[in-house]
Amino acid sequence: MVDELFEVFEELFERRNKKKKKEKEGKSGKGGNAAAPATPPIFCVDCGARNEGGARFCMECGALLPSPGEELRCLSCNAQLPLKAKFCPRCGAKAAV
Ligand SMILES: [Zn+2]
Ligand SMILES: [Zn+2]
Repeated sequence: MVDELFEVFEELFERRNKKKKKEKEGKSGKGGNAAAPATPPIFCVDCGARNEGGARFCMECGALLPSPGEELRCLSCNAQLPLKAKFCPRCGAKAAV
């Protein structure tokens, strides 16, 4: 009797393991890239139009758009500038646009 019970338990345990393995395989196979967020929209510095992420130029006015992750920096003192800055707040140099 005890042996039979043990066998049943063993079988159940094996089934569980198999199920878990299958679930893991399914998740890593399909859902790998699904969680990746879409590129955020880029707002034009000149006219404020909302452009799709990855766009290089504004679809409204044709201005060059800042690429995501790219920072606007002062050419004179290398201070980080806000995207709309026309002059460096630190040294007063004209910001390149
Ligand atoms: Zn624009
Ligand atoms: Zn500066």
